Amino acid sequence: MDINKIKADALVVGGGIAGMQSALDLADQGYQVVLVEKDPSIGGKMIQLSKVFPTLDCCSCITTPKMSAVANHANIQTLTYCEVQSIDNADGHFVAQILKKPRYVDEDDCTGCRQCEYVCPIDVPSVFDLNMTARRAIRVPFSTAVPQLAVLDIENCILCGKCARACPADAVDFTQTAYEIELEVDAIVLATGFETTPIDAKKEYGAGNLHNVIDGLMMERLLAPTGPYARVLRPGDGKEPESIAYVQCAGSRDETLGVEYCSRVCCMYAIKQAMLIAGALPMADITLYYMDIRAFGKGYDQFYQNAQAMGIEFVKGKVAKITEDENQNPVVRVELIDEGQVVERTHDMIVLSVGMVPQYNPGSVYSVGVGEYGFIKSPAPNISSTETNRSGIFATGAATAPMDIVDSIASASAAASGAAAHLEAVQGGN
Ligand SMILES: Cc1cc2nc3c(=O)[nH]c(=O)nc-3n(C[C@H](O)[C@H](O)[C@H](O)COP(=O)(O)OP(=O)(O)OC[C@H]3O[C@@H](n4cnc5c(N)ncnc54)[C@H](O)[C@@H]3O)c2cc1C
Repeated sequence: MDINKIKADALVVGGGIAGMQSALDLADQGYQVVLVEKDPSIGGKMIQLSKVFPTLDCCSCITTPKMSAVANHANIQTLTYCEVQSIDNADGHFVAQILKKPRYVDEDDCTGCRQCEYVCPIDVPSVFDLNMTARRAIRVPFSTAVPQLAVLDIENCILCGKCARACPADAVDFTQTAYEIELEVDAIVLATGFETTPIDAKKEYGAGNLHNVIDGLMMERLLAPTGPYARVLRPGDGKEPESIAYVQCAGSRDETLGVEYCSRVCCMYAIKQAMLIAGALPMADITLYYMDIRAFGKGYDQFYQNAQAMGIEFVKGKVAKITEDENQNPVVRVELIDEGQVVERTHDMIVLSVGMVPQYNPGSVYSVGVGEYGFIKSPAPNISSTETNRSGIFATGAATAPMDIVDSIASASAAASGAAAHLEAVQGGN
């Protein structure tokens, strides 16, 4: 087989929980699926999270078996560290040009033993841990990465050759170059997910320059068992915080950021994190400043009530400004709505409950219709929310709207079902 030309039934773009679920649903029906992920590992944002609301199940424990099922499914070919460059229609099929980025490590030979990582002398900020810790220039992306293959960050490499000498499989290859793969399929599922609203987007909240103001995803990493410090410490000086506050709607429902919509998950993840912090730091005071709590799903309101019963303080008020005092303690200026007064309160650490913005870049590759805020838009959202304006291309998960994991999985199965119906129609059964 020519490795640069592949034929399959369906292409799934994005290896987060939505993409993985769509791929598994299609593959279980007997369709040949190619899943393309731009990062060196599948897993999406979910693999970075600590626990999930409202069950407080360990996120890794749910996500890693799914990642493994995708990687080992006989009908799924997973292409990591790859980007779709273009998608064209030809003879009734879709032809996707995919760029395979060089890992500088032979994927067939690497065993993920990490000997290269142990000897590498170069430390760079870890993207997986949101720059709160360091990683090596060559490394396996994270402990539960799938595939367990090293990747070399050539921009930071000093070509000392220590990794190549330490590799027992002789897998390090500094001469690797990018190459193109041409993929022909009959259906496509876009599951390109979301980004969080950038922490430096809001000047009033310190524009990312305050030492002990972090965002919700960073707190997920601090609370995760695989997190950077294995405990909750404030990044400014490594001190254990005694007073932690959440600022809700920091990046959602905010015209000044162009994000006027509610991101749906921030109230629930803030409540979840507050409960986890109460367990990790029992003496800490935890406060949530909110406009209104949106606990919309099954069991979510009960979850909120449990947090109140645990002693977490819920303060109805919109935070206008965050500054810091001479000890790098963040100070919030907030209007207390129930009391009708504006006060300043000092905390050890602030977590901004940032929202969700689409990761999908419509102009560049797929040319499917998007809505006002850039999420992929269905032409008939009330009938089929996973259809796009291009026949045979479906969209799912947070690429289509802010949504939690439960809704992402339901949407993924709907997209897979739409894609399977399309395949049935164009192929006449498989
Ligand atoms: C701080 C925080 C905490 C949260 N906690 C919870 C929780 O406790 N419970 C809950 O239900 N939900 C929670 N959520 C929401 C949850 O993260 C999302 O519902 C879920 O991750 C959406 O999955 P997805 O697959 O649609 O998107 P993503 O997880 O964003 O995955 C998208 C994938 O697509 C890849 N990709 C993107 N573009 C391309 C491209 N062009 N080519 C190839 N690959 C591409 C990305 O690299 C990524 O791997 C939380 C969210 C945040 C921000």
